[in-house]
Amino acid sequence: MSNEVLNYDKIAEASLAKAQRDGAETMWDRRAAQKTQCGFGEAGVCCRICTMGPCRVSPVPGKGAERGICGANADTIVARNFARMCAAGTSAHSDHARDIVHALHHSKAEGPYKVRDEAKLRRIAAEWEIADADTKETYALAHELALMALEEFGKPFGTQRFLKRAPKARQEVWARENIAPRAIDMEVTTLMHSTHMGCAADYESLFRRGMRTSMSDGWGGSMIGTEFSDILYGTPTARASSSNLGVIDAEMVNIMVHGHDPNLSEMVVLAAQNPEMVELAKSKGAKGINIVGMCCTGNEMTMRHGIKIAGNFYQQEMAIITGAIEAVVVDVQCIFPALPELAKTYHTRFVSTSPKAKIAGDIFIEFSEATGLDNAAEIVKLAVENFSNRDASKVEIPDIKQDTMVGYSVETIIEHLDAVVNSQLEDELGTVKPLTDVIYAGVIRGAAGVVGCNNPKQQHDYAHITVMEELIKRDVICVVTGCAAQAAAKAGLLTLEAKDKCGRGLKEVCERVNIPPVLHMGSCVDISRILHIVNLCADQRGVDPALLPVVGIAPEWMSEKAVAIANYVVGSGINTYLGVIPPVLGGPNFTKLMTEDCHEFIGAHFVFEKDPIVMVDKIMEDMEAKRTALGI
Ligand code: SF4
Ligand code: SF4
Repeated sequence: MSNEVLNYDKIAEASLAKAQRDGAETMWDRRAAQKTQCGFGEAGVCCRICTMGPCRVSPVPGKGAERGICGANADTIVARNFARMCAAGTSAHSDHARDIVHALHHSKAEGPYKVRDEAKLRRIAAEWEIADADTKETYALAHELALMALEEFGKPFGTQRFLKRAPKARQEVWARENIAPRAIDMEVTTLMHSTHMGCAADYESLFRRGMRTSMSDGWGGSMIGTEFSDILYGTPTARASSSNLGVIDAEMVNIMVHGHDPNLSEMVVLAAQNPEMVELAKSKGAKGINIVGMCCTGNEMTMRHGIKIAGNFYQQEMAIITGAIEAVVVDVQCIFPALPELAKTYHTRFVSTSPKAKIAGDIFIEFSEATGLDNAAEIVKLAVENFSNRDASKVEIPDIKQDTMVGYSVETIIEHLDAVVNSQLEDELGTVKPLTDVIYAGVIRGAAGVVGCNNPKQQHDYAHITVMEELIKRDVICVVTGCAAQAAAKAGLLTLEAKDKCGRGLKEVCERVNIPPVLHMGSCVDISRILHIVNLCADQRGVDPALLPVVGIAPEWMSEKAVAIANYVVGSGINTYLGVIPPVLGGPNFTKLMTEDCHEFIGAHFVFEKDPIVMVDKIMEDMEAKRTALGI
């Protein structure tokens, strides 16, 4: 695969060359320093959960040590390690959600945290069966709903409230297989217990427990995070934005928001709009203040405000290397600890803000919901004052940016679908029927959710873009989130013009509904939006989602959050394709369970495939088999 294939690699090349000139270290230097990575870790067969170890067992049955000191075999060790990845991923998304719910609990009419989507507040309150949801005073209702949501994390009985969004058939699978998630924190805690030395040693039981925990993420933490962020900050609507490093503006104060939590970045955006702050920036010789986004905080900001996207995971260092970022403001998750050191090569200030993710090396300004706007104002001022320290000789911003359309929440997609509902027929407005109609008619063959990270094991963004381009060519509509969405944005796939890259059926649909063939549905917690729309489609057709020609794909995943996501997507009945092989191959029975046997009881399974073209071939076969089984 050559760098010529993708124009954005030229940016990577230029950035890396500049990093070398500036004496800055990047992830590629550190990747090279790792030399050959450990085969035991890669196969998932090393264990260090007690101090009799660390133990490592042979990934090849019949050769070398077959058991750790306690007697755990390869499948048990692999299953425990994988389960712990599920627990960590679930905890990250869910703790994020808890902060959002806390902000709603603090909300008041005078702001800055206030209810911006009252209709959604009332809709969710009614869904959760709060009495008088349509008439109660807004903030009394918001606070009551927030309390109920906080209980979802630790209630002693019952399962997650949002599970009821799934069709009956799916709910029955979850009940039968005992994977309906209970309280979120309970699932994480009990899974950590099960994986303690001398507890669960049955790989299948560990797999199921990992799945139930992950389900508490998708149908609990992430879904709460998404829905409550919409209530607080507004439900995204279709809007224009722009992406890639070229959105960094040499004439402005550039502030990069990086991480995940909109509670902070929303305040940064507000503080930067303050006319006094803009005046201060002008007094320093800048034309104004330019907020750019990175990773999922960037996604949240672009979905709701059209904030420009500087890049995805692998570009977090490249943005600093432009020499034109006055401050990187981070909250939690996916932030390289290397950034403060890198920032010192330039004038950039690195501001960490969350006690949960304090990163040493520059400045820590503790952010809390009670003082959010003041904290943000302090950060923005720090950035503005830093403009004068910029070294013009080190500024080099790649001249590449791409127009892009963002903001496709479930509500916005349905609004677009309404445009093609014939007023003479009896079809209702506000449903997903036009979408299931074109899928059932075969005009589009299926739908794919493409999500996840970048990973230096692969050429960045190559698998994302190849998978998406191949799928739309074959009339499969794509919805994207996370760093996959940003890859799509940079490649121009989130534009109306991208219809010209589609097969005939999908092109026609894009033209009539006025949408790009790849729809940006938000951040990683917003994968819950994908779950929601798939389940609306299944419900509309009266089938289990496992029967629909729909797949989940994580072509370049790297984080534990991605493991939890993949797991809850499979648990939701959707076959999930991974372009990076998880550390499980050392446990042959566990691998078989994930990739084949679990289909029997969940109706879905994992597929590991590194080659994106082969992956798409397999996906098409999968979709066509489902179509045949449905008789469509
Ligand atoms: S739990 Fe067992 S396999 Fe793991 S480190 Fe301890 S003795 Fe070794
Ligand atoms: S897609 Fe992966 S790398 Fe990107 S923000 Fe989400 S978890 Fe982090």
